[in-house]
Amino acid sequence: MYILKIILYTLTKGLFSGSIRIMRQTKLFTKTKKEAPSDEVSKNAELLIRGGFIHKEMAGVYSYLPLGLRVLKKIENIIREEMNKVGGQEVFMSALQNPEIWLKTNRWTSPVWFSTKLASGTDLGLAFTHEEPITQMLKEQISSYRDLPFSIYQFQTKFRNEVRAKSGIMRTREFIMKDLYSFDIDEKTHLEFYEKAQEAYKKIFERIGIGHLTYLTFASGGTFAKYSHEFQTITSTGEDTIYIDEEKNIALNKEVYNDETINSLGLNKDKLVEKRAVEVGNIFTLGTRFSDALDFKYKTEEGDSKSVFMGSYGIGPGRVMGTVVEVLSDDKGVVWPQSIAPFTLHLLSLGEGEKVLKEVNKIYNVLLKKNIEVLFDDRCGVSPGEKFADADLLGIPFRAVVSERSTKEGGIELKKRIEEKGQIISLDELINLLTKESKI
Ligand code: ATP
Ligand code: MG
Repeated sequence: MYILKIILYTLTKGLFSGSIRIMRQTKLFTKTKKEAPSDEVSKNAELLIRGGFIHKEMAGVYSYLPLGLRVLKKIENIIREEMNKVGGQEVFMSALQNPEIWLKTNRWTSPVWFSTKLASGTDLGLAFTHEEPITQMLKEQISSYRDLPFSIYQFQTKFRNEVRAKSGIMRTREFIMKDLYSFDIDEKTHLEFYEKAQEAYKKIFERIGIGHLTYLTFASGGTFAKYSHEFQTITSTGEDTIYIDEEKNIALNKEVYNDETINSLGLNKDKLVEKRAVEVGNIFTLGTRFSDALDFKYKTEEGDSKSVFMGSYGIGPGRVMGTVVEVLSDDKGVVWPQSIAPFTLHLLSLGEGEKVLKEVNKIYNVLLKKNIEVLFDDRCGVSPGEKFADADLLGIPFRAVVSERSTKEGGIELKKRIEEKGQIISLDELINLLTKESKI
């Protein structure tokens, strides 16, 4: 029993170390705002800026503040868990790029580059993706069929000189991308991994809370595969047009919407529904395009030399976060799914009477011990109306109010963000409920 306790203690310590679980709003340096910058046209940026989740540096460039960073990290962790489950090994590659290897794949001339120079005048680029450096790096590690298959991923900043930047954090010029790359002896084993990755992606979007709006979408493939696959989330603010088959739960990107594709996938044109959507993820068979160009080869069992067969699998956690705001918020503010919410509970203390303060501090201290993530609105001199409006704007899944009234009724008034009315419950009931919710 004692050993079990030690194990449990170490586990919880390990899991939660490093992340702050309770935060007092009086200590939070960010403030909510009534208005977003006037040049901001997208709903996600407007709400996220007003809530103090992000800060706009310039068009298409945003910084993540404490609340926003918590959401981003939770999204990243869900993705990380699913990438680890399919065997991905995490790395972190450099943003600065040597043009030499990109010249070999004819991508140095792409207009999407942000480029820079060494003091000596030599050109460098800021990576917009990582196929080239990862292929080059692996030439030093991989030589035999025995070294394959495997996959590598990272969460890394990409730079893209995007022409348009009007979608808030859904399309930015600097963004974190989770990019995974798979390496196989041939197409057959590649496709086995590709299917696993597809399932992992479905799981990711379900866990993040947009699975019901996200479709596996056929898109153009390139030289080595007829199609690539995108994960497209339905939203009127999306930049893509897709055609959905509701029954089969798949869609086609407009770029491959033609009779040939429709027939080859056994779809019925009359049943396809046109919708606007945003690409939240993308999986792609690269084949030997990069391994051929950079001479990345392995020795087969028979001793022949063959190019490694590759795939790439991207997700933008920031774009996913923006998409969640676009599709799940209401006119009062953000509505975070529990799995990615910055905190589980927003504790509001209303009124400055001694009884209320004593009660709310007692609750605060219990929550502190229970490993529940709480944002504590301990501000004095802020009206109940303002506190409620801020709670709605910040979108934390549960709101607990401690007031003169609630203490008289013997408890805490608990309300879900998505519900209109709350109910009075005891502290024990609150803890039970939230411990369950936190495990989701
Ligand atoms: P799009 O078609 O939207 O321009 P893409 O096809 O160029 O995107 P990929 O190169 O496949 O995108 O990137 C992988 C993932 O990275 C995308 O699915 C998306 O989630 C994210 N992403 C791409 N571009 C951006 C961007 N400018 N800002 C934020 N996230 C992005
Ligand atoms: Mg795309």
